[in-house]
This record gives sequence, C-alpha cells and structure tokens, in this order.
Amino acid sequence: MTAGGEQVNIVVVGGGTAGWMTAAALVKLLPRRCTVHLVESEAIGIVGVGEATLPHIRAFNEKLGIAEAEFMARTRATFKLGIEFQGWGKPGDSYIHPFGTFGTGQSEVDFHQYWLRCIHQGIPVPPIQELSAACMIARMNRFDLPSTDPNRLESTFGYAYQFDANLYAPYMRAFAEAMGAKRTEGRIVDVHRNGETGDIESVQLESGERIAGDLFVDCSGFVSLLLGKALGEPFQDWSKWLPCDRAVAMPCRTETALTPYTGVIAMPGGWRWRIPLQHRTGNGYVYSSAFMGDDEARAGLVAAVEGEPIAEPRVLRFRAGRRERSWVHNCVGIGLASGFLEPLESTSIYLTQQAITALLELFPEREVSPIDRAEFNRLVDMEYDRVRDFLILHYHATTRAGMPFWDYVRTMEIPDSLAEKLELFRRRGRIVKYREGAFLDASWIAVYLGQGVMPEGHDPRADIPSAESLARGMAALHEEIRAAATRLPDHRQHIESYCPMADAA
Ligand SMILES: Cc1cc2nc3c(=O)[nH]c(=O)nc-3n(C[C@H](O)[C@H](O)[C@H](O)COP(=O)(O)OP(=O)(O)OC[C@H]3O[C@@H](n4cnc5c(N)ncnc54)[C@H](O)[C@@H]3O)c2cc1C
Repeated sequence: MTAGGEQVNIVVVGGGTAGWMTAAALVKLLPRRCTVHLVESEAIGIVGVGEATLPHIRAFNEKLGIAEAEFMARTRATFKLGIEFQGWGKPGDSYIHPFGTFGTGQSEVDFHQYWLRCIHQGIPVPPIQELSAACMIARMNRFDLPSTDPNRLESTFGYAYQFDANLYAPYMRAFAEAMGAKRTEGRIVDVHRNGETGDIESVQLESGERIAGDLFVDCSGFVSLLLGKALGEPFQDWSKWLPCDRAVAMPCRTETALTPYTGVIAMPGGWRWRIPLQHRTGNGYVYSSAFMGDDEARAGLVAAVEGEPIAEPRVLRFRAGRRERSWVHNCVGIGLASGFLEPLESTSIYLTQQAITALLELFPEREVSPIDRAEFNRLVDMEYDRVRDFLILHYHATTRAGMPFWDYVRTMEIPDSLAEKLELFRRRGRIVKYREGAFLDASWIAVYLGQGVMPEGHDPRADIPSAESLARGMAALHEEIRAAATRLPDHRQHIESYCPMADAA
C-alpha cells in the first residue's frame, strides 16, 4: 500500500454493472486518492440481467452528477413507483409495494395504526392501498416527478428506474473512462499473493501480462475469482430459506400499457418478473430446481409472456447467500462476487451501491486497517440480512397451498430475526424501525397487509380521534389522493416529453 497522501492503485476485476459502477464512483468521488484500472473479458461477458432498481439509485446518480433525462434515454429506462405482487397472499389477489408512504407520512402515530383501528372497530375506511399516492398513481399508469414541497401530497412518493441491463454497464463505462479509469481487455488466469501477508499483489492475464495494485475490487460475478477462488472466503448458503436457484429470462415486445412498476407474479414453481422498458419488456421465471425442471419453467414463461418474444429463453443459475466476509486482506468483493439474493425486490444493484458507498467512506489510507475492514463487513452483512428477512417474508406469509414449492416455503422454519419482526407486527402492527437502508416502514406494511398478515391490536394512541372524524379524514384523504393522481400525465406520455423514447426493438 502506498504511503499516506499518495494515490492508492485500485484494480477492479470485472466490467459488469458492479465493476463499472465501482470504477465510476471511485474516479469521480476520490479523484486524487486513487487510480482505477479495470480488467474485463468480453469473451466471458456479463450476466446481462438486472433491470429493476430501488429509489436509492437516484442518490448514486446525483452524487456522480449524472443527468437523469440523458441517462434514461441512453439506458431506455422507464420510471418505477413500486412492485406489483400478483397472487402472493393467495391466488388472484394483488397489491403494490410502493416507493412512498401510506397516508401523508406526517402524523406522530404511524398512519397504518389509524387504518388498523378502523378495521378493528368497523369504522368505514378505503383499502390501505388506495391511501398511498404511489399505489394510486401506479395503478392509473401515470407519472410525474414528485414535488419537493413536503406539505404537498405529491411529495409522498419516490421512484426508481427500470432500465436495459445491457446498456447500463456500457453507460457507466463511458462515464468512468471519461473521468480517467483505465481498462484492459483480457481473461485473468492467475492471481498472485504475497507469501507473507497473503495480500493479493497482481492478477495475470492469458497473454502473460500482470496487473499489480494496492487494493483489488472483485466484481467478477458469480465466479468470485478473487474473494471466493483465490482467497477461499466461504459462502454462507441461504437456500433453505430462499430455495429459488434458477431463472429463465426472455424479453418480448411491449404490447400492453407501459406500467410505471415492476410486475412480480406468483407461478407454480416460483414467480415471474415483468419489467417494461422503453423499447421492450423484460420477463423471467425464477424457480427452484428442486421443484421444477428447466423445460417446464421455459414452457411456463413462454406461455405467460404478454408480447411477441424477441429472443430465445436463456437459463441462469445462482445460489442465495453471501460470502462470510466481503472484504478480506486487500480484496473487496462487490456485486455478485460478494453474494446474491434473488431479484424479488430488485435489491442486487442496491446492495452493490451500498457496498460502494461503504468503501468510499472507509477508503483505506496507508494500509487496510482491520477496524475499517470489520466495519465494512458489518455494514454489508446488515444490509444482506435485512434484505434476506424481507424476501423470506413474502414466501412465508402466503396462503398458497397444494403446490410443492409453495407448501415448502409457507411452512419452512424462518430466521429468528424475522420471527421476532412478525410477532411484533401481529400483536399491534408495530414495525421494527431502521433509520436508514432499504425497506423502511411502508415496505414492510405493504407486504404484511398485502399478504394478509393482520395484527390483533393497534397503537392505543390511534384511539384518540372520534370514529366520525377518523372516517371523514380517511375519506377526504382517499379523494385527495385520487384527484392528485388523476392530474398526472400518462407514464408513456411523460417519458416521451422528458426523454426521447427509443423505437420498438
Ligand atoms: C435472474 C437475475 C435477475 C436479476 N434481476 C435484478 C434486478 O431486477 N435488479 C437488480 O438490482 N439486480 C438484479 N440481478 C442482479 C444483477 O444482474 C447484478 O447485480 C448485476 O448485473 C451485477 O453483476 P456483476 O457486475 O456483479 O457481475 P457480471 O455482470 O457477471 O460481471 C462480471 C464481470 O467479470 C468479468 N470476469 C469474470 N471472470 C473473469 C476473468 N477470469 N477474467 C476477466 N474478467 C472476468 C466478466 O467478463 C464480467 O465483465 C439479477 C440477477 C439475476 C441472476
């Protein structure tokens, strides 16, 4: 490692979404602290899926100074207000996990507590989904940027993007290279470590060239070339809770409305995604090979897609879990090289972004400090564990029965951390609070109530207003949300005026 004040030479291994996001953030945000050299192999290629994101990506783009309209035009992106879950609680039902609050988000007592009181005491109240601006706007296929005035109802929702994964990494590459990142094309065939410290010294390409560095970022995807293979960091396998280990993906033409949300539809052997982009719709069937064969999944997807296919179905394999530590010696694993949780809640790019942020915050000086490394690993683990529990909730809180896959996930043992959260909610609708990170209160409320987990009681402070004023307030809010949503433009029209739409593929 170089002396304090000198630049740290970083080698990023892998040029997929994770590699180029990392390179772009490092060159832009730590320009005097590091040099970035990225190695990738076009022959190996990138995983090329990963099209739905969480709202946090906007903060990442803002930090880098990326202009939204241009970014959306180049990646053929659409807006995303949440995820619609079809048939998860029971066959035929549907709810939206919104990026936004229920109610106005401004009351001292959580809004859903008033709603629960109405249900418990027979006070007339609209469905909770219709008391969220994000849900209502999404259902109407409308969109406009949220208001920045916190007193306006139009400020109660956030949004993310749905973009073409094969255009996103090249976009980030152009950005990073323009800022000074260096790129070498080639297949890495060997990794050289220091005989005393065990640190990585260089990676060797097929051509014989060696690329040396102070810090190595492993973004090599599922193969986990440095962290897993060279350093032997064990993989914590979570497939007993998240048994899906395959997906078959196939894009099609968009022949239905351009929805400002991702569709997640329960299927006999797992679930199916539907991600509308400007020029096509991404589709995939995520399933467990223990319960369904590839041919059956492929046939299930082909039969279900709602447009003319524009590519052959492609099968991808994965395993749920993460490396025990993501930062070991002088190697930081980011992206699929560090772990993977199935894309049910579009969390992988988010986890990549969080790891990049932690790396920037804990960026090493003269040498990697064990304390910084431990803190990085703590942050990464915390994010993974929370996302894991949230995903398991969807499977556990289902009433789907009579299908081997669903019978397994409904009745499986769940982690203690999730069992405690569920118990707390079932008693009085209380959510375990996080100050930051993914999936704050509204996300948990959406899934609990959307899948029929109904608390026995509610917060006693919600009993203070009279029944009449509560009913009146709920009805007025419902009408206000409906009126506000109706005023917004159609999602497709908004994109057409905001950034040029691509021709249909
Ligand atoms: C089915 C599925 C659906 C998904 N959906 C979503 C979603 O909706 N939202 C979301 O956020 N995420 C999603 N993801 C995850 C998302 O695709 C990944 O997080 C993202 O693409 C990052 O991948 P990566 O860069 O880590 O790996 P990759 O894209 O696999 O890139 C690995 C890189 O390493 C290079 N490499 C590997 N070995 C070598 C070698 N020996 N020498 C040189 N270079 C090498 C490759 O060439 C490549 O450049 C999904 C994943 C799957 C499997």
